[in-house]
Amino acid sequence: MINLRNIHKSYNLGRPNELHVLKGINLDIDDGEFVSIMGASGSGKSTLLNILGILDTYDQGEYRLAERLIKSQSETEGARLRNELIGFVFQSFNLLNFKSALDNVALPLYYKGVGRKERQRRAMEELERMGLAAWADHLPNEMSGGQRQRVAIARAIVSKPKILLADEPTGALDSKTTIEVMDIFKQLNAEGITTIIVTHEQSVADATDRIIRIKDGNIV
Ligand code: ADP
Ligand code: MG
Repeated sequence: MINLRNIHKSYNLGRPNELHVLKGINLDIDDGEFVSIMGASGSGKSTLLNILGILDTYDQGEYRLAERLIKSQSETEGARLRNELIGFVFQSFNLLNFKSALDNVALPLYYKGVGRKERQRRAMEELERMGLAAWADHLPNEMSGGQRQRVAIARAIVSKPKILLADEPTGALDSKTTIEVMDIFKQLNAEGITTIIVTHEQSVADATDRIIRIKDGNIV
């Protein structure tokens, strides 16, 4: 599903303050895996995840996603692959605060050109799965952190991605809610979604099937 060969990434490339963050990453993740990426703060976890999610480019090496070489695509081609294959979850939820839970979940379907009725039906289905049907009309700031993250997960999976990428998804949650959210990821993975979770919490990593550790720009 995911094949990285000798991936390098620097910020401020070529400038005196160049920061070489990824120094030749080799990594293979199979279809259906449930993995975590661990490492100290600043070790390049988000950089790696953003490359995996085609949110950022890399400088050197080869990234193959579902057999397709991800490099120097046009923005639109990158966006198309991203919309087709990938769902994202972030630490701070990244919900639109002036939109209801239902509208937040439905938004990716709008960008895919799905009609309004069908958008609402599918968004409601995902909210129900997250146990949040009664919260559909609420705004994010009326909900707890755990509820917001479940809305964000519903939004990430509403367009049926093959891969779910989560950057510190439990970083803003207490330990009980963390366990609940990890149970949701586990269930989604069991349904076939390849799931990759960046974390610096050992308990979160332990809930996944494989831990990938990143240190000094390489996988150890
Ligand atoms: P992590 O997620 O493991 O904490 P990051 O991938 O966010 O690490 O960052 C790795 C390093 O790259 C850090 O030193 C960070 O300050 C730096 N960095 C991240 N994003 C940028 C950027 N857009 N421009 C310049 N430096 C960045
Ligand atoms: Mg990070």
